[in-house]
Amino acid sequence: MAVAAPPTLERRRCEVLGRVQGVGFRPFVYTLAQRHRLDGFVLNDARGVVIEAEGQPQALDRFLGDLSREAPSHARVESVVARAVPPTGERGFAIAPSRAGAGDRTAAIPPDLATCDDCLRELFDPADRRHRYPFLNCTRCGPRLTIVRAVPYDRANTTMAGFPMCADCRREYEDPGDRRFHAEPIACPACGPRLSMPLEDAVALLRGGAIVAVKGLGGYHLACDAASEAAVSRLRARKHREEKPFAVMAADPAAVAAVDPAEEALLRSPERPIVLVRRRAAARVARAVAPGGDWLGVMLPYTPLHHLLAADFGGPLVMTSGNRSDEPIAYDDAEARERLGAIADAFLAHDRPIHRRCEDSVVRSAFPLRRSRGHAPAALALPVPAERSIVAAGAELKNTFCVARGARAFLSPHLGDLHDATAYRAFRIDLDLYLEMLGVRPEVVACDLHPGYLSTTWAREQGTELVEVQHHHAHAAACLAEHGEEGPALALVFDGTGQGTDGTIWGGELLRCDLEGFERVAHLEPVPLPGGEAAIREPWRTAAAHLERAGRPVPYERWPLVRQGLGVNAPLSSGMGRLFDAVSALLGVRDRVTYEGQAAIELEQLAGEAPAEPYPCGLRDGVIAGADLVAAAHDDLAAGRPRAQIAAAFHEGVAAIAAEACAGAGGPGTVVLSGGSFQNLRLLGSVRRRLERLGFRVLTHRHVPPNDGGISYGQAAVAARRSAACA
Ligand code: ZN
Ligand code: ZN
Ligand code: FE
Repeated sequence: MAVAAPPTLERRRCEVLGRVQGVGFRPFVYTLAQRHRLDGFVLNDARGVVIEAEGQPQALDRFLGDLSREAPSHARVESVVARAVPPTGERGFAIAPSRAGAGDRTAAIPPDLATCDDCLRELFDPADRRHRYPFLNCTRCGPRLTIVRAVPYDRANTTMAGFPMCADCRREYEDPGDRRFHAEPIACPACGPRLSMPLEDAVALLRGGAIVAVKGLGGYHLACDAASEAAVSRLRARKHREEKPFAVMAADPAAVAAVDPAEEALLRSPERPIVLVRRRAAARVARAVAPGGDWLGVMLPYTPLHHLLAADFGGPLVMTSGNRSDEPIAYDDAEARERLGAIADAFLAHDRPIHRRCEDSVVRSAFPLRRSRGHAPAALALPVPAERSIVAAGAELKNTFCVARGARAFLSPHLGDLHDATAYRAFRIDLDLYLEMLGVRPEVVACDLHPGYLSTTWAREQGTELVEVQHHHAHAAACLAEHGEEGPALALVFDGTGQGTDGTIWGGELLRCDLEGFERVAHLEPVPLPGGEAAIREPWRTAAAHLERAGRPVPYERWPLVRQGLGVNAPLSSGMGRLFDAVSALLGVRDRVTYEGQAAIELEQLAGEAPAEPYPCGLRDGVIAGADLVAAAHDDLAAGRPRAQIAAAFHEGVAAIAAEACAGAGGPGTVVLSGGSFQNLRLLGSVRRRLERLGFRVLTHRHVPPNDGGISYGQAAVAARRSAACA
């Protein structure tokens, strides 16, 4: 009689790559292994997660199948490589200690995760031991990127290392059945971080109209009562921010803004960005929050501290970055006290250090204006893999940098304007932290052509292979690359300012390009910017230059004087932003601006959505006669046509001539739209419709900002292509 052979056991070793640390992946594997009756272990290493599992072959197959299918919501499994290894007879399944290991540190640190519903319930449950505890979190939510000092993602490698767990927290941390099993930042009132002042005191101060600096996830916010004109105006004066809108945090966004279902979904998405929405007329929000316009930047609370503040305060709060104007946000405690001391009346801080800065993300419609908290450091794909490590230094305004290796590009959080030494220092600190986290040393450095950008200065000092990428080519490449394409394509790149290859300022460009290079097919006719930078602050100067070119009278008193300076300081610019400035000034919307893009933003609002016939505009030998549009606007204004209609006809005129230029380019049949001017929804929509009617395939930004925040990613894509080409 034959004896049944004992079932053969197999053992497999699996390497799981992707975003698999800090998202509850090991507990998930543990539970899964139990379910399939497997023995072995799971651990984090510097590259991702390693699993060794031993059991019946069929059970192993099912286990591997479930591994990708049932992964936790914030995980992103990119690959699972399994191979057979000799069985060891090991019994039980364990979460083994992490291995630091050398080599490629690509283990994806997850972005910071907004408070989950389970934690939120505990936060407001008087019976829970974490009732009203401002730092509760679990494997599915809480701080990640901003507290991680090193990989692998373990408590000892985070800024929570200084908080020894109490017995209760340790029990939860070690219990595979608990939702805080291996939640690295686990904390409770007995053992975790504490606020620097009682929350009710901060709320009382806010009620009294005070400005309170609130330490959040990736930096300090400046908070005040959004309903109080006095408080908001005081904040404006102290922060030196005259009119640029402030973001508002509201537990109930519908109370302050008209939110459509798509915007609601964005607001509630796990990234919890600031979403630009239309303000409600009756909203209890001071005019001073967004003086020039109908759009409000609104976000939901995303940390337990924010939830408590919002609930206790009971109304919308201004929550603007803790900085002066557009400098990098303050995140270090001592630095915040120093930089924000003159702005804030009080500090609501805490003792959990922020290891790296991360600003809030901002989205409008379906594209990001800032890709930052909630996204960083998630990798973006590159269509051409970087054979050597690339660091792209980005632009000057809305700076980000981008570190690329292989097919992955790590776009940094929003840093701010790189205007001065302080911002430059912040750039270098943040970049060093990123390189350290990713274990990358730059082998190729990419930068803008503009010699005056501090990002360019940095790049040129590195002494490595340098790839200089023309600004508008970088914009176009960013849009191509985020769609996984290399081109060739046409690219309409409309923005304010960018250094051209001929030494003039470009920004109203039709390029034919691929990731390697580009050719300038058409562009706005350059006009002198009277006074250079002054013309950017005072759009009336550009209006005057355009009117003169168009042979129309120039109504500005100061023009004769300014005009005399034309020979001295009047750089030529083909910037689309400047054309929008000119018309904005002409219509009396804005003859002076206090923040970048203001004149164009307010012109878009004036135009609204009513249809209009486009103004005619000349195009000859690749030169677009922008002055025609200014002349038409001038003549209509003189004839008494309503200004909103003029603004609309101008928008349509720009869109129509852009489409016409593409039609005349002789291919290819794909057009990418990029540059800061395409943050304008009316312009974006109209250009897209017109191009699609002509049979073009149109690519627009979805993951990377169309503004200069996307430049570094575009630079990285070009550098990857160029260094692949010459290798
Ligand atoms: Zn949670
Ligand atoms: Zn505890
Ligand atoms: Fe730009």
